[in-house]
Amino acid sequence: MRLLLLGGTSEARELAALLVEAGVDVTTSLAGRVARPRLPVGGIRIGGFGGVPGLRAALADYDAVVDATHPFALGMTANAAAACTDVPLLRLERPGWDPDPSWRYVDTHEEAAATAAALGTRPFLTVGRQELARFVPALDRHEALVRVVDAPDLVLPSAWRLLTSRGPYSLEGELDLLREHRADVLVTKDSGGTYTWPKMAAARELDVPIVVVRRPPGPAGVPTVHDVAAAFDWVSALIEGDRRGA
Ligand code: NAP
Repeated sequence: MRLLLLGGTSEARELAALLVEAGVDVTTSLAGRVARPRLPVGGIRIGGFGGVPGLRAALADYDAVVDATHPFALGMTANAAAACTDVPLLRLERPGWDPDPSWRYVDTHEEAAATAAALGTRPFLTVGRQELARFVPALDRHEALVRVVDAPDLVLPSAWRLLTSRGPYSLEGELDLLREHRADVLVTKDSGGTYTWPKMAAARELDVPIVVVRRPPGPAGVPTVHDVAAAFDWVSALIEGDRRGA
């Protein structure tokens, strides 16, 4: 069994570790967006495939695919669903956070920007480098604190402050950061998971309103699991099925 694992998440690294330990031939694929990615165990390939045709061609080397990319990595997930017509595909998507009645859910980053502009003047933006341009029109005069893993190519408004760092974060650290910036609104995607949860707990503790960008729908017709153990079981069942069929 040669497995292609579309990664870039902590779940993908955990799954790679479990599968390598079980003797599966795993190659994790990373987009190559982050300068110093946390690397999983097993094989690694880095960079885009070249759309659906490129991915389809690459699939000649694999027997199955697990798409464990981030819930907001829409392009890669759509390409995997389109390309994997003859190769079994599983989507591993961590659950979103349990909704809190006080959170303001929005459908787009532009809506998040407008909502944040209406709620405060000192937003804390934790939406990822690639989305920042969508926040500039509504928030260019606001004193935004922007936290990203790698600095964006975009020239940020002069009133914005850039912080480059990578989670996981602690509640104490997030409380300090929100207080130090005097943040009056937090903007986040519904990423789910524990890595970035402390900012939500800190904002709640400090009564800072939270704007949450809703998740896009998952890929239609693709079997989906929500934790690493279930993805491991899916791969194990495929291997078992192959053995029986051999
Ligand atoms: P995206 O918009 O869905 O993907 C755009 C293109 O980047 C894809 O069409 C593909 O290029 C390439 N790509 C994306 N993920 C890839 C992967 N794992 N391996 C090889 N190529 C990949 O993706 P994104 O939102 O920019 O995310 C990029 C990576 O960062 C993903 O692996 C994701 O898991 C991780 N990540 C994303 C977020 C987020 O908020 N979006 C947060 C944390 C981590 P080709 O068409 O050329 O194949």
